[in-house]
Amino acid sequence: MKINTAEFVISNSEVDKCPKDRLPEYAFIGRSNVGKSSLINMLTNHKNLAKTSSKPGKTQLINHFKINNNWFLVDLPGYGYARVSKKTKAVFQQFIMDYFEQREQLVCAFVLIDIRLEAQKIDLEFMEYLGESEIPFAIIFTKSDKLGKNKVNNHVEAYKKQLLAGDWAEMPPYFVTSSLEAKGKEGILEYIGQINED
Ligand code: GDP
Repeated sequence: MKINTAEFVISNSEVDKCPKDRLPEYAFIGRSNVGKSSLINMLTNHKNLAKTSSKPGKTQLINHFKINNNWFLVDLPGYGYARVSKKTKAVFQQFIMDYFEQREQLVCAFVLIDIRLEAQKIDLEFMEYLGESEIPFAIIFTKSDKLGKNKVNNHVEAYKKQLLAGDWAEMPPYFVTSSLEAKGKEGILEYIGQINED
């Protein structure tokens, strides 16, 4: 699939205010700074469709972009940890949970993972949440240019092992990307195109 048009539609923090069109929807989510905005800009051939972290005042909203007039790319806020009393707790904001639990148009979530890091608890918890909520997802490894080719493969293998050692019976579909080198774009767009055709 080629992206010919990508237009911003709406930002909001309430699932009820998301677009009413019954178009299939693909959501992108990950920890803050994982490279989500850069990836969205790469996928859509835009320099600045999604706001990158270097811009101040980045808001925490659900952003809908209409692609080729036939599907939505949804940019969700980054998640992270918050210190609550003496404990550190994973925080997935309520409106993100509402989105995942109520948005019937959602076809697939892409969970972004920085390829340099070992599997992080918060990402594993989030994938577990998606699994329990029966939401199909795929993994997008970001920033692959930061590692040599052998290391890329080693890191993916190590990640796979960590997932399989946990609750997962198999590795979900995954993509290795670098927004800096415009790598991994075709695989993701083909994957979306294929699902949209079925
Ligand atoms: P977001 O917070 O997940 O939307 O992340 P951004 O897209 O704003 O990127 C966070 C930081 O990582 C910025 O400094 C980007 O320049 C950098 N970054 C994003 N993608 C890549 C990549 O593919 N390669 C490298 N080397 N840096 C990247």
